[in-house]
Amino acid sequence: MKVLRNSLYALNLVRGACPSYIPWTLLAALTGVTAPLTGVLGIKLLIDALIARDTRSTGLILLAFALLTAATALFRSWYNTVYEPAARTRIGASLSASLLERIGLLDLSAIENSAFYNRCSRAVSEANTRPQGVVQTLCGLVGNLLSLATLTAILLSLDPFVLLLTSGGAALMFVLNLKRSRLGFKQYLERTVLERQVTYIQRVYYEPQYARELRLFAMNPFLVGRYRNAACSLRQTLQRQGLHMWVFSGLEKLLNDCLFVVITLSYLVTRFFAGAISIGGFSALFNGIFQFGDQLYSLLARVPQLYEHSLYLETVQDVLQANPDIEVTEGLTLEASRAHSIEFCHVTFAYPGCEPVFRDLSLTIAAGEQVALLGHNGAGKSTLVRLLLRFYDPQEGRILIDGVDIRRYDIRALRRCFAVVMQDFQHYAFSLAENIALGRPAVLAQDIETAVRQARLDDRVGQLPRGLETAITREFSDSGIQLSGGEYQKLALARAYAQESSILLFDEPSSALDPEAEHTLFASLRRTAGRKTVLFICHKMSLAVHADRVILFERGRIAEQGTPLALLRSGGLYSRLYQLQAKDYLASF
Ligand code: ADP
Repeated sequence: MKVLRNSLYALNLVRGACPSYIPWTLLAALTGVTAPLTGVLGIKLLIDALIARDTRSTGLILLAFALLTAATALFRSWYNTVYEPAARTRIGASLSASLLERIGLLDLSAIENSAFYNRCSRAVSEANTRPQGVVQTLCGLVGNLLSLATLTAILLSLDPFVLLLTSGGAALMFVLNLKRSRLGFKQYLERTVLERQVTYIQRVYYEPQYARELRLFAMNPFLVGRYRNAACSLRQTLQRQGLHMWVFSGLEKLLNDCLFVVITLSYLVTRFFAGAISIGGFSALFNGIFQFGDQLYSLLARVPQLYEHSLYLETVQDVLQANPDIEVTEGLTLEASRAHSIEFCHVTFAYPGCEPVFRDLSLTIAAGEQVALLGHNGAGKSTLVRLLLRFYDPQEGRILIDGVDIRRYDIRALRRCFAVVMQDFQHYAFSLAENIALGRPAVLAQDIETAVRQARLDDRVGQLPRGLETAITREFSDSGIQLSGGEYQKLALARAYAQESSILLFDEPSSALDPEAEHTLFASLRRTAGRKTVLFICHKMSLAVHADRVILFERGRIAEQGTPLALLRSGGLYSRLYQLQAKDYLASF
């Protein structure tokens, strides 16, 4: 029942993406019905005509034979080489696009869940074969049924017992095939993790972001060692699985190729010597038995194929129906043109399956206030930013913007209010302009140019013959450029500046900037005072003096907070860390 439902789902998917695929594939499958006609009936008629020395009938049979074979061959080769590959890709691309779109909407926690991640990667990687596979299998089933009907009629007219013999053999084959197919799927799941480990190390070798470290740390022996271990585990698993599989397929081959052929031939020879069948009948029965067996076997083998496709389609539906846990309850909008207050009320948050990062955290930031978040690595600063952006929701407590729970805002409107520079920002193999706009419709060409100037990237862009149209990385273009670490950080800043925003969230925004660019950044932050709420994370204590307030985190708790001056005077942790860095600075003179 489930197989049927999933197959119907696949048919609808295919019909939506490429309406002509089902009729053409059905026609291709029906051309298979010509084989029983030509191979069994045609041969019998030909032999009978030859024995009767009837040249006219012989000629007509040969002509019909040639026409049918030529038409079938021409159509099938067009279908296989011209039509099917393009249509298959069209269907695969349409399904992949839907899957990618859905995955892009899901929460980070879903993507960080390895079981779900595996399902997503499987759904996308097999989108090019599985739904089409359902159509091929179903059309093949129709072709098989028609061929079987034709063969049954022919065999019944010649020798009904033969039909019983062949059906028994094929049913046995089917049971073995079903078991083999179940085992194949179980083995496939078992191998997936190992295969991913192997391809991960391969990726480390050919993806450019790893190239420098790989050489700097002479990681070759380590990585190749890891690769060999992973590949060795994969090989051992494949060997073990192969042996297991061999038992089934070996038994299948033994039964089919040896026992069945011997029994059938002995029966036919006995019938011929008993005078029950003519030489034409012998030939027709001989071909018919094997064709009937093949067709029945192929029909039965398609059932487990459908079962396999059906399991895949469940994965597709799982992914397409997955909903973000982070729900928008009311969809209130939030203006990006004025500053907003932020409040964390008794927030408790743990990443899935981990110890809580925050326990009962409360914190208020006034509209237009500029706050520096400080603390050791792992203290929870970036997590605070992620909660504000609703990458995750807290398990307890509430986060308010302008006194309203952020869960009540439309999530896109909420995120649009923030200009964010994340610590782990990425760049893409697109043009500079595209890397700044990132597909946001509100970002216009002139916004990009202004943002580039604000981020002090304009000098570098000015040197490029194609300016903002220059591609980043050489992945797809020989004229592509590679920027320095600091320039990439400027690019991330330009992204943040390119769109109107009311809250700036900067996670170590100047860690790779030169002193001049750092100075410009903090001067521009000062200019926004009162107009924008600013939260910036930094490790240089001297930069925190630019803020109205410093909040120092320790293991998810607020250890100290106050104006930079008050904290310096208090002689607490901030002051100690400040002195420590200042001492290092002065010690060099
Ligand atoms: P900070 O920004 O202060 O360096 P983070 O907020 O990044 O610290 O991390 C706080 C804690 O949460 C750390 O113990 C870190 O290991 C953990 N953590 C961060 N991101 C994740 C994640 N995606 N899944 C699980 N734990 C995480």
